[in-house]
Amino acid sequence: MMAIAGTKSGHQFMFLSDAADSCAAPYGELLCAPLDDTQAQDRLAQFADVVTYEFENIPCSVVQRIESAVPLHPSSLALSIASDRLQEKSLFRQLGMGTTDFFPVDSLELLTEAFSAFGAGQAAILKTRTQGYDGKGQAVINQPAQIADAWQQVGQVPCILEAKVKFSREVSMITARSPSGEMVFYPLSENVHREGILRLSIARVDDPLQQQAEAMARRLMEHLDYVGVLALELFHVGDELFVNEIAPRVHNSGHWTIEGAATSQFDNHLRAVCGLPLGDTAVSQSVAMVNLIGTVPSEKAIAEIANATLHVYGKTDRPGRKVGHITLVDDSKTGSDVFAENLITLLDMVGEKELASALPFVATNS
Ligand code: AMP
Repeated sequence: MMAIAGTKSGHQFMFLSDAADSCAAPYGELLCAPLDDTQAQDRLAQFADVVTYEFENIPCSVVQRIESAVPLHPSSLALSIASDRLQEKSLFRQLGMGTTDFFPVDSLELLTEAFSAFGAGQAAILKTRTQGYDGKGQAVINQPAQIADAWQQVGQVPCILEAKVKFSREVSMITARSPSGEMVFYPLSENVHREGILRLSIARVDDPLQQQAEAMARRLMEHLDYVGVLALELFHVGDELFVNEIAPRVHNSGHWTIEGAATSQFDNHLRAVCGLPLGDTAVSQSVAMVNLIGTVPSEKAIAEIANATLHVYGKTDRPGRKVGHITLVDDSKTGSDVFAENLITLLDMVGEKELASALPFVATNS
């Protein structure tokens, strides 16, 4: 999606991927090699004016090596923090940002101690420090009897144990910063997950917590001298936001910006890493995104829905895999009731109709 955006403005792309069927292949030259292949890294560095990435489970050593040869954003520092849950949450604390209580745990003994330190009745989530995404590498612990199983389940690797948060909503802040320090912020995205996977995002113009989220994003980006798009995944608890994690890249909960915002997150990421002025983040009246997990529904059925746009990633169908998404925008001609009805139809189409019952917020942004 980044390359699709960049090709329109005349950029050329080379991709380094260890997947032969990489869905970026149609949009540039694909170097199919292990990420730590130094020859492939050197080719990339020779080709490119600037290098970026869209996945945080890349070894930091790979990013550092490329960064020593060619401008690369976001920096390896940002990546190293974002790819380690302990470093990440410690930084949130250091910067005075709200986050759930947590303990580092490297053994079953420490895990047992940490769980009892939370006190009776407090559920916890055990998460691997690195390599987790879409709920992988996580185990919920509700009572002491589940501790040993959870430790087995995550593979007995360095972890953090987090207190499970009773949040009212999950939201994310998609933001971008350029090398000059210019920053832009999209309206908060309200996100609904099932089984640890994002299913639905809705743009929330005028959210009362927008300013709080922007202040957190600003603090983090300035601290890291950050360049590019940054996503903050946040829990809404009472009147407050807790940061759960950050992603140093364009983010699934910002995919609605392609049709829903004046400048998409992909365009703004490219502008930032190329040192260009950032684009307007104003959004349409109502915007939502429905993820396609495992399979793509009928193209015809989607085409029949007003203002719905289908994005298919060209990935092989597989249960639990994100293979595309649909954006729905409101246009003033159809009105908010039609938007809500169309969103429910889309959710039904992807087998997520029950999510609609959790949607008082479908009543548009106005
Ligand atoms: P993560 O991999 O940290 O993004 O977690 C995936 C999903 O699990 C989140 O979007 C939440 O729905 C849930 N989750 C993660 N951490 C917590 C927590 N400490 N308390 C409650 N729910 C959580």
